Amino acid sequence: MSIPFVDLPAQHADQQDEYLRAIAEVVGSGHFAGGPAVERFEREFAAYCGTKFAIGVGSGTEALWLSLIAAGVGEGDEVITVANGFIATAEAIAFAKADPVLVDVDETTLTMDPQAFEAAISPRTKAVIPVHLYGGTADMEAIVKIARKHGIKVIEDAAQAHGARRGGTRTGNLGDIGCFSFYPGKNLGAFGDAGAVTTNDELLNERVRMLREHGQEEKNRHQMIGWNSRMDAIQGAVLSIKLRHLDDWNAHRRMIAEAYREALSATGRVILPAEREGEFHVQHVYAIRIPSRDRVMSQLASEGITTSIHYPVPIHLQEAFGHLGHGEGSFPVSEKAASMLLSLPIHPQMNAEQARNVAEMLKRALKVTAAA
Ligand SMILES: *Cc1c(COP(=O)(O)O)cnc(C)c1O
Repeated sequence: MSIPFVDLPAQHADQQDEYLRAIAEVVGSGHFAGGPAVERFEREFAAYCGTKFAIGVGSGTEALWLSLIAAGVGEGDEVITVANGFIATAEAIAFAKADPVLVDVDETTLTMDPQAFEAAISPRTKAVIPVHLYGGTADMEAIVKIARKHGIKVIEDAAQAHGARRGGTRTGNLGDIGCFSFYPGKNLGAFGDAGAVTTNDELLNERVRMLREHGQEEKNRHQMIGWNSRMDAIQGAVLSIKLRHLDDWNAHRRMIAEAYREALSATGRVILPAEREGEFHVQHVYAIRIPSRDRVMSQLASEGITTSIHYPVPIHLQEAFGHLGHGEGSFPVSEKAASMLLSLPIHPQMNAEQARNVAEMLKRALKVTAAA
């Protein structure tokens, strides 16, 4: 048995003809950078998230970066985010010329600890970026409440959580700005790099639109220094098709997660991912925490099960952010998790039987390493 970590060719096989027709249409239209296919996807994605606006951009990293600039973040400002996420969030803050301020996460959800956020606020804090990690959601009610009290903008990093909800509200609509990635392996993935910004705020919408196109207000009138971060028309066309399948794919991911939970919940040495009351988790990554992670991982690899680690080195211990001056022990929850995390295969092309097989092999590998 061999189970890949993701299987994009299998995902695309089902709608192959539809994708090729849509791409042919773009080729025939002559509009490749932005244009009608992107505008259409923007309308559909805004409607999906429940926001007034969605702006297509070049990647999730650029969505974060341009959102920060649009929110007025710049030199001398601080932006608070988590120590345990993907490095893009902190990079975007640094590229906006602001100082990233890292905080630790909640032990159960591994998302931003609201108390740690509040404790990190200084007179220079301009924005906070909670990360909706693994398809779960950060504690937005608490975070937004604290942010409002201090006049801080809330930017969601929703790159791993397309379609996730808290109560009835989808990610991208839980703060002031939402940032999405459509990197191919995400729950909603393009045929290359792409991203989007969502907001209900007219001014932020206008500013992000200008920033992604050289700060242009109208052709050849540059109101601010911007960048080129247009979404490709081919990506817009592909994403419009895929968006119609997103809810089904997310439901399938949840079914796989449930199969894992049933098979593993009685296994004492495994910490399983949690779904909080009122939360709709979209299971982008199924990250468990186990002892002897590295040995279990290689044992599974030898049996054809590809696993991964999200993420083995927290941001504050990366050389790139060494200048922040945090040593080992600075963010104990993030650090301990990093040493124990193992992501099991989860994607819409897997079935529950395969998940049960992975779980059985995992249990065997845990016994072998416990005995060793
Ligand atoms: C993927 C990802 C990003 C970056 O998105 P790109 O489209 O790859 O630039 C940012 N934040 C998180 C949490 C991600 O998972």
